[in-house]
Amino acid sequence: MTLRLESVTKRFGSFTAVDQLSLEIPEKQIFGFLGANGAGKTTTFRMILGLLDQTEGSISWNGDSIGYDQSHLVGYLPEERGLYPKMKVRDQLVYLAKLRGMDKAGALKELDSWLDRFKVPDYKLKKVEELSKGNQQKIQFISAVLHKPKLLILDEPFSGLDPVNVEMLKRAVVELKEAGTSIVFSSHRMEHVEELCENLCILHHGKPVVHGDLKEIKRSFGRKNIRVKAD
Ligand code: ATP
Repeated sequence: MTLRLESVTKRFGSFTAVDQLSLEIPEKQIFGFLGANGAGKTTTFRMILGLLDQTEGSISWNGDSIGYDQSHLVGYLPEERGLYPKMKVRDQLVYLAKLRGMDKAGALKELDSWLDRFKVPDYKLKKVEELSKGNQQKIQFISAVLHKPKLLILDEPFSGLDPVNVEMLKRAVVELKEAGTSIVFSSHRMEHVEELCENLCILHHGKPVVHGDLKEIKRSFGRKNIRVKAD
């Protein structure tokens, strides 16, 4: 299964947020999206997910668009956290997993193993709003992966986490890749991308300014020149 973007452009009125972006992400690969605030990363993810229509170009996954009928195959961790704060953690995750095609027993089994692994305390009794921000983020990650998606889209998954939790999430991301998932994630930080990704794209004002195999990019540019500029 390959995610393919061909000459994708998104305009909001006269403003171009994403400009002629082309890329391919095969299965078992982690693709990194780097860019400063406003570079167009979230807009790209929303187009991939079908939440926004592109103005030009085409997006396909396994030769098809990601519509309602494929949504159970996709996991998404949005940048703005999307959990219901007043709902209990366990009820919420099981509810979301069922919407994505899992049965309750299967969802609970998966959930227990993720919560145990991520060391989220007292989840059975607590509402989401009662957890720390870091634990809420881990819950959001679990929500994106519980139903075992084939394509996983992570919008700044490591922001706001302490180094121990960043490592925990990174290990999980690598294991999911090894199990066959295609993963794309965004970050402001080159070191996350260097550690995890085979391929990357740096967006600057919506344009892909550097794009391709990480090792080759490092060979041709050198480490210093692939920093993400604020402007
Ligand atoms: P960040 O790292 O801050 O999340 P980003 O790379 O994800 O940034 P986007 O959220 O994709 O950036 O935004 C790209 C640009 O498109 C920004 O200038 C933003 O203001 C603009 N933009 C995004 N959504 C809309 C919208 N619905 N209407 C108008 N402009 C928009």
